Amino acid sequence: MEILVCVKRVPDTAENEITIKGDGTDIQRDDLVYSVNEWDNYATEEAIQIRDKVGGAVTVVTVGDSEAEEILRRQMAMGADKGILLADDAFEGSDGRGIASILKAEILKGKYDLILTGAQADDGAAQVGGMLAAMLDWPYASLVNKIEIDGKKLKIGREIEGGNQEMNEIELPCVLSIQTGINEPRYVGIRGIRKVASVEIPSHGAGDLGIAAGSVGAAAARVKRADYFTPVMGKGAEMLEGSMEEKIDKLIELLKAKGGLK
Ligand SMILES: Cc1cc2nc3c(=O)[nH]c(=O)nc-3n(C[C@H](O)[C@H](O)[C@H](O)COP(=O)(O)OP(=O)(O)OC[C@H]3O[C@@H](n4cnc5c(N)ncnc54)[C@H](O)[C@@H]3O)c2cc1C
Repeated sequence: MEILVCVKRVPDTAENEITIKGDGTDIQRDDLVYSVNEWDNYATEEAIQIRDKVGGAVTVVTVGDSEAEEILRRQMAMGADKGILLADDAFEGSDGRGIASILKAEILKGKYDLILTGAQADDGAAQVGGMLAAMLDWPYASLVNKIEIDGKKLKIGREIEGGNQEMNEIELPCVLSIQTGINEPRYVGIRGIRKVASVEIPSHGAGDLGIAAGSVGAAAARVKRADYFTPVMGKGAEMLEGSMEEKIDKLIELLKAKGGLK
């Protein structure tokens, strides 16, 4: 099975204190530590497990700048066979539709049976997977937490309200957005990273993909971020300060004081 996993390079929330830029346009991106979007890591692991069961290849693809290559290498160290970088100044500032149309152009150049995305990324829009499926006119299922191969079909589990589970059949080729917890992503060691350090990663731009200038990127974005801010704290709300351990200790104290913990 030919599987493509869409991965995004995102600020690592475990490693950074995220603050918002004064002009409300974005987060402060100087000196941030980046990693692969958590959901995409589960998607890559799932793709590798499927390939190991039924054969085929796993390709990881990202829309980003040259620095995004590092997450492709990380996923290749995990076990993905190939990486593709989609980079062009024309892609900068794309909205979800823009990202999905860039990915679609790359997908149509290949011959994939299954496209996996994360259920959501750092901007939390949860839109790229669904839009991509609609653009390709392929079936789509969201929040997938189980995949079983059944010939030309897949049996997929979805997490639904109240802790219940739904099982569906879906035809290939299809797009699935993957929920965290579907598997246990394997550890990526330094040795694995070194092994793929010099593997060539092709980079495709707007021209290679046949994407018309101005059809993606900031100028083509139909969803424009108008503001980005931390909401004013509500009455009685308290923000816990300190390290994670200190915050946990304070929270336990507070819960005990309010009778929530014995
Ligand atoms: C400088 C800057 C300017 C921006 N300007 C705008 C703007 O004007 N309007 C706007 O709507 N958004 C803007 N964005 C947000 C950006 O385009 C979002 O990443 C995009 O809308 C996707 O939303 P999301 O991250 O919430 O992805 P989701 O839809 O939540 O992601 C779901 C899945 O889609 C896949 N995916 C998402 N992004 C990528 C990617 N880059 N490469 C490969 N796979 C991916 C992954 O599998 C991911 O798990 C901007 C971002 C930056 C950094």
